[in-house]
Amino acid sequence: RLGRSSAFLGKVGDDPFGRFLENTFSEAGVDTGGMVFDPDHRTGLAFVSLAADGERDFCFFRNPSADMTYAPAELDRARIQAGRIFHYGSITLIDEPARTTTLAAIDTAKAAGLLLSYDPNLRPPLWPSLEQARNTILQTIKFADVVKMSEEELVFLMTDEDLFPVASVSEEECRALAQDFRRRYDLPLLAVTRGANGSYVCWGDDRFLSTSGLPVKAVDTTGAGDGFVAALLCGLLEHNLTTRHALLDPPVDLMIHIAAQANAVGALTTTRKGAIPALPTRKEVDAFVSLQ
Ligand code: ADP
Repeated sequence: RLGRSSAFLGKVGDDPFGRFLENTFSEAGVDTGGMVFDPDHRTGLAFVSLAADGERDFCFFRNPSADMTYAPAELDRARIQAGRIFHYGSITLIDEPARTTTLAAIDTAKAAGLLLSYDPNLRPPLWPSLEQARNTILQTIKFADVVKMSEEELVFLMTDEDLFPVASVSEEECRALAQDFRRRYDLPLLAVTRGANGSYVCWGDDRFLSTSGLPVKAVDTTGAGDGFVAALLCGLLEHNLTTRHALLDPPVDLMIHIAAQANAVGALTTTRKGAIPALPTRKEVDAFVSLQ
């Protein structure tokens, strides 16, 4: 939707939900040739309930669902090698064989010189324990060049609290945690999303940027983080910032522009219901930004 080519790799059931997902991706221009359809397991389902302020709660139906059975032999390595950025999450790192498949995809992307982008996307009900979630996410951060996480995830990962979401922290504390995290894991770029408060982006040699949230009437925040990271990655692609080296010292005005675009896409995504249907097109983003 933002005008760059993309492909989705993953496994769904050979059922109406899996086919629906394939159609939804195709209509949005996403290459679905690498999707696998499982005749033996159903598509995993997530029901999202909304509070009055647009915040949401997830209820998952799986155990086992097709995505958990995604096997290394089913991985379309050629599609990864044809890309410039590989984006992954932590949900496929919970169960085998999807975990080994995800690690194989990461290896393939690294060997082919792609930029690796990670959105941990912590969903506590899917993990055996929060401790295991924290350990796995921290162990797999090291493969990433770009990490996008929410403020709640950052606080959870940087403390040993055994609950999620953890109590909120002040702006200064969040900023310090973000910079510590980026340094500790030697990340070229870390983006921390803060809902209506906007985002932080840290990169290179201790550069830090805070971008305010844009005023919108949020009806459903589902997909805001995905929209944000999609725009961030598009910006990096469009300006050839797809190597660790390029991310060491990119022009600051360029990073301000990319962060503003990511914030705009995140904000716009909250103004419509749903996850994928709420993601805006490039034209809608340009129109929205020109009004700010
Ligand atoms: P996640 O889905 O990762 O929890 P957030 O809810 O923090 O992500 O939202 C991602 C981005 O979308 C934010 O950084 C912000 O730019 C934008 N955003 C989210 N909620 C709002 C809101 N209520 N008003 C304006 N912008 C928002």
